[in-house]
Amino acid sequence: MHFLIAYSYQTVCSTFRFTMKTPPKYIMKAFLTLFAITFTSCAVSSQANQAPPISQPNTSYQEPPFASIPPTKLRWIAGRNDLQIAALTFDDGPHPQYTPRILDELKKRNVKATFFTLGRSVDLYPQITARIAQEGHEIGNHTYTHGNLSKMSTASIQKEMDRGRDAIVRATGIQPRIMRAPYGAIKSAQRQMIFDKYKYPEIFWSVDSRDWESKNAKSVTKIIMRDTKPGGIILVHDIQKSAVDALPVFLDGLIAKGYKFVTVSELIRVSTMANPQAAVAR
Ligand SMILES: [Zn+2]
Repeated sequence: MHFLIAYSYQTVCSTFRFTMKTPPKYIMKAFLTLFAITFTSCAVSSQANQAPPISQPNTSYQEPPFASIPPTKLRWIAGRNDLQIAALTFDDGPHPQYTPRILDELKKRNVKATFFTLGRSVDLYPQITARIAQEGHEIGNHTYTHGNLSKMSTASIQKEMDRGRDAIVRATGIQPRIMRAPYGAIKSAQRQMIFDKYKYPEIFWSVDSRDWESKNAKSVTKIIMRDTKPGGIILVHDIQKSAVDALPVFLDGLIAKGYKFVTVSELIRVSTMANPQAAVAR
């Protein structure tokens, strides 16, 4: 906009000089140019006036609505195996259709889960991300672009972590406390660097549904029912239809086996307690 005004001003000045020394056709051309620029400038200005106001991102870093994690381990594959609890984790979302369906099924059963979101999808669907947090689920940092961290420089990893975190904070106002590496691919030195800088433990899994591979709800249910043990961390993807279709079946199956579902942070918290039975029984 400023550029256009400055340009119009320059054109007016040059037009004035033309009137002193040049033939009429140049004067006409200069005026036509001025008219065109003024018209464009007005059109741009009117568009700018109609544009919705840009909302301020929410950058207030609140404490998450779950207990803080004692920094006991850099990497978690499962929690304590003497507690009938499991953490259900959804990776790579949010997805515009599947994630709301998942949230509906979780709410019906009062089940709390953990979503390892991609920052780029959070930026596309901030309202769905906000709903995840509002309904009491945990959100973990799964990077911004789903790059392979094990092949990245420290600076690139930190950029992925920062952007993934900032997207979550913009959408929910809540800082993530945990991370999961895309493909589970991370070197031990990188894991240490991430823990030192962000205080995120790396969250792996003990039950791999392989929903992306089979694309079959029955297979997903079968694997989860077979492999889930007390303290387990279950991996599914909220971008896979097979996982969404299987969800009501395996949730009801595991609830019937006496499992209580907790977020990953809660799984870690109770797993590091001296006497967690009382906390889990609540
Ligand atoms: Zn992933």
